[in-house]
Amino acid sequence: AKASGRNTFALYQSEMQAVSDARLEMEKALHHAIEDKQFALYYQPQNDANGQVIGAEALIRWKEGDKGFISPAVFIPVAEEIGLIVEIGQWVLNEALSQVAIWLKEGKWHASWRMSINVSPIQFQQAGFLPMLKAQLEQHDVPAGCIDLEITENTLLNDLSSCLEKMHAIKALGVHLSIDDFGTGYSSLKYLKSLPIDRLKIDQSFVRDLLVDGSDEAIVRAIIAMSKALNISVLAEGVETAAQYHRLWEMQCFHYQGYYFGHPLPADKFVSTFVYDALN
Ligand code: C2E
Ligand code: CA
Ligand code: CA
Ligand code: CA
Repeated sequence: AKASGRNTFALYQSEMQAVSDARLEMEKALHHAIEDKQFALYYQPQNDANGQVIGAEALIRWKEGDKGFISPAVFIPVAEEIGLIVEIGQWVLNEALSQVAIWLKEGKWHASWRMSINVSPIQFQQAGFLPMLKAQLEQHDVPAGCIDLEITENTLLNDLSSCLEKMHAIKALGVHLSIDDFGTGYSSLKYLKSLPIDRLKIDQSFVRDLLVDGSDEAIVRAIIAMSKALNISVLAEGVETAAQYHRLWEMQCFHYQGYYFGHPLPADKFVSTFVYDALN
């Protein structure tokens, strides 16, 4: 028994070693990803109750050599841990803004549409974030009203007063602010009242079981009621079926994002799939 226990431990150790080797390898690869042009943005439509496009969310994709795509759910947390998220986030903002600028010029982006860009709490917290945002808006000559920054509730866990100040400064530029994955974090209702927020995005985990889980339905109902009371708009994420869409509509949620309306696509495919119809 003793011997096998030791073997189990040895095996465990070697597995641990393999995991940390893979992790180190990913860190190394991430450091080269920007200059090697391995990142791309995909765009997923956001729609209203008539199915019309109202904007898009920019979602990063990492294609590393022969390994294919590595999910942002896997590499973004690593990039956050090693601080590289600041540089990656800056790349994302630059890429998304230059895409909007091109589409505006080509008549492929409606002036009322919003490009949603994810901002990591670590990136948001940087002292240089606001000047960087301002400089990029000017450089690309994109109207601030075309941009929506998605932050998570966890962003608010950092120094709240400096966070609030930054949010107000962003709003003063004319940029919109959404709270992403709403309902999964730690923001209190007390905060919510005082935040200069335009939109809550109901986390997809609540939408997934909306039709089968009474407590998820209650949570979705509560978020919609709250957004109404606070005069904040609300969008449901992860809408995959007509039935979910209809139920959300009955619940008076009129903005949606999810596979039912469209998958994230590269820029050219986004235009050929969603934009021609929308603008003609
Ligand atoms: P998120 O911001 O909550 O983005 C929504 C995720 O749900 C995306 O996954 C999207 O592809 C996926 N999705 C959209 N519709 C549906 C649906 O109907 N069903 C299901 N099951 N999933 C749907 P993705 O692109 O893999 O991104 C995962 C997460 O990685 C994002 O979650 C976000 O937290 C992070 N992320 C992605 N791009 C960026 C970025 O540019 N910057 C930062 N900081 N984080 C990013
Ligand atoms: Ca998001
Ligand atoms: Ca989300
Ligand atoms: Ca999420």
